[in-house]
Amino acid sequence: MLLWGPPKKFVGWDPKQENSEILTIERGRTADILLGWINKQLGSSYGFNDGKYENEHLQQNFSDPGQIAKAIYDVEEATSTAFGIILYQRMIKSGTRASLIKFLQLLVAHHPSKRCRKGSADILVDFDNLCPSEILPANNEADSCSKKGALGNYQICGEEVPRGYWMYCRGSKNDTRGFSCGLWVLLHSLSVRVEDGESDLAFRTTCDFIYNFFVCEECRQHFHGMCSSVSSPFKKARDFALWLWSAHNQVNERLMKDEESLGTGDPEFPKVTWPPKQLCPSCYLNPGKTSNENSKIDWNKNEVFKFLVSYYGKELVNLYKDKELQAGGGTGKTVNEELVASTNAVVVPLGAALAIAVASCAFGALACFWRSQQKNRKPRRSWN
Ligand SMILES: Cc1cc2nc3c(=O)[nH]c(=O)nc-3n(C[C@H](O)[C@H](O)[C@H](O)COP(=O)(O)OP(=O)(O)OC[C@H]3O[C@@H](n4cnc5c(N)ncnc54)[C@H](O)[C@@H]3O)c2cc1C
Repeated sequence: MLLWGPPKKFVGWDPKQENSEILTIERGRTADILLGWINKQLGSSYGFNDGKYENEHLQQNFSDPGQIAKAIYDVEEATSTAFGIILYQRMIKSGTRASLIKFLQLLVAHHPSKRCRKGSADILVDFDNLCPSEILPANNEADSCSKKGALGNYQICGEEVPRGYWMYCRGSKNDTRGFSCGLWVLLHSLSVRVEDGESDLAFRTTCDFIYNFFVCEECRQHFHGMCSSVSSPFKKARDFALWLWSAHNQVNERLMKDEESLGTGDPEFPKVTWPPKQLCPSCYLNPGKTSNENSKIDWNKNEVFKFLVSYYGKELVNLYKDKELQAGGGTGKTVNEELVASTNAVVVPLGAALAIAVASCAFGALACFWRSQQKNRKPRRSWN
């Protein structure tokens, strides 16, 4: 018997269960029929020859801008995985609580996926009740915020996520890419969505989040070093997005050497100084120069910024239809449209602000908007 469904739905699956998301593939007798069935499910057009070109296909990651559209699923996966790790490892302490709240506020305001924005808002609304600061230990003792019944009940990007697999960030080996790749994409996608006035707060919120909650010790220390070397506050969203891009490239360049000498890393996805010319020729002031001619690239930073905004902005959410909304009788808007809604939503904070505005800030105002939406159930503007 052949079955089809999201991996996590197989846990505890009961074959007799009605309306299960796991489907039996009835007509899979021949490879042709099976492939046809799979293509229908995925809306794809895979053929049997595709396997021959597997490596070329993977390399398209560098040159095919369309690939990034798959990454929205990884951004959701990374968000959910990060939240799961925070709870599982009981990382919410008195010293880290405010940092998590600020990051949630950033997600509510600017996460590219609507369901993660909503899930973050739901958590934020209940945060003070479920995880009051008085119950948190200052030391390493287990805390009760993470338990089932408290924050452990929440699925930050909805019930479908985590799905248990990666798409854009899938490595060619089991232990490469995945979460850390998804986390970078999440951070870049946030950096191109913040407004000028939020840029410094977004920068500090990102730095603190990585420092407090990223489980890779070497990574958090390196990243903290890069954050600490910024001396004056960012005034423009452009500066934050370009700083993050440059910080990521510094990591890439360091790892390029390590991976070459130690043979670590993913052979199908060698580290590159990013974006490569195939992806953004105009980002290079001198695109004719070959990479081994130079140790330092002359970037056209205006073009790099434009490219980041397009790549992690519109292109990231290009293919993503909010299926849940459509199924629920919503308007069927794409997340792309929802994204526009999210960035215009700062207008409405009502009195309900106080309970969650622990770290009072622009993101707090958006969180309040959500809270008032939930309480009033009379939205002033359409979110659905
Ligand atoms: C904050 C942070 C710090 C890290 N620090 C370390 C460290 O110190 N040591 C260590 O071993 N690992 C570190 N990692 C992990 C490492 O950077 C990679 O994530 C991991 O090796 C997987 O690499 P990858 O090939 O999937 O591409 P990643 O580097 O994860 O990149 C993901 C995707 O982002 C895009 N991208 C690449 N470079 C840029 C850029 N400059 N700007 C915008 N987009 C880009 C590409 O499309 C790429 O596929 C860190 C991860 C994070 C999130």
